[in-house]
Amino acid sequence: MNNKIYYFDVASSTKPYPEIIDLNNKLLEKYYANSEAIHSLGIEISKLYEKARQKVADFFGVKNSEIIFTSGASEANNLAIKGFCFNHLKNKGHLITTSYEHPSVLNTFKQMEELFGFEVDYLKPNQDGVIELEELKKYLRKDTLLVSVMQVNNEIGSYNDLKIISNYIKKHSSAYFHSDITQAVNKIEVNLDDVDMASFSFHKFGGLKGSGCLIKKNRVNLVPLINGGLQENGLRAGTVNYIAHICGAKALTLNNNRHNNSNMEYLKNLLFQAGIEVVSQKHIDNIILIKTPIKSEVMQNALSKYNIYVGSKSTCSNKNKDNSNTGKVMNYDASYCIRISFIETNKEDIEFLVNKIKEVIDNYGIKL
Ligand code: PMP
Repeated sequence: MNNKIYYFDVASSTKPYPEIIDLNNKLLEKYYANSEAIHSLGIEISKLYEKARQKVADFFGVKNSEIIFTSGASEANNLAIKGFCFNHLKNKGHLITTSYEHPSVLNTFKQMEELFGFEVDYLKPNQDGVIELEELKKYLRKDTLLVSVMQVNNEIGSYNDLKIISNYIKKHSSAYFHSDITQAVNKIEVNLDDVDMASFSFHKFGGLKGSGCLIKKNRVNLVPLINGGLQENGLRAGTVNYIAHICGAKALTLNNNRHNNSNMEYLKNLLFQAGIEVVSQKHIDNIILIKTPIKSEVMQNALSKYNIYVGSKSTCSNKNKDNSNTGKVMNYDASYCIRISFIETNKEDIEFLVNKIKEVIDNYGIKL
């Protein structure tokens, strides 16, 4: 067998780009001081770090004071939702999210509801995995405090139009709008004009793990979850992992256009010809969820013998034996599905993948 790796699990994480590995190694050699130190090494690092913050701000068209670096999207989601709610503990109030969010959003809203007494409504996606305006209309109230709707769903790749949702919210309430844009950044256009807060991780597009960002417009007030020093505008105390964030800012701009080469249509044709069912037809060009007649963990194992790596439900839910959040609301059994996700790939690799999926199914004596 050749040693080539066929990596189709970028929605879970990506290999850092060679430029990022280079940059990381160079920075590690030279920069080890604390970025808050007031000696010249600290000041030098702090300048590089602030440049990275500006790069991220420019990319999204926001101010540099609106960028809060975190350990990842999970932390950014927690900071956005809890940090916001902790400012409203006195009167509590009404919140809205969707029933197919990533666990770092969904479980946080559940906690706000069950432990802290907020009232939460959970919007249901339609059969394409899209949150329709009609659904939002049913629940949005004049006194709603916060709405959170993800841009791209991490399991089926379906996507929501943030502009339409945020326009409606701003017109009909005074609620703030947060979006988990983790699977959207550098895959589809992200327009944050009317979005108050947005979260993502850099490792989803060639950056390093343990590094992410909350974009928080200056009009929103949050309570910090980690108290201590005044790093990140006083919203996230602790010595900064600046090397990872500087690498993240670079990955953001390196990634541009690589995803245009996804060959998703080619993959879909081959899957169709092989009789393999796709869970949702409406998805971005980088993520597709397919049904398999054998358990997803068995399929994943069998494929990994050929150095093919695919995902199953949200990787963060793998330890949870239940169906996934998205599976429950979209009526499919995630334990019989695999997620194929990629940034750029070629036809040969896609053919290899589909042939091996067919072979594994054949080996189990199953006719499609
Ligand atoms: N939100 C979404 C939509 C995701 O796909 C992920 C990663 N699985 C996260 C949040 C969490 O990202 P991280 O694990 O980097 O904190």
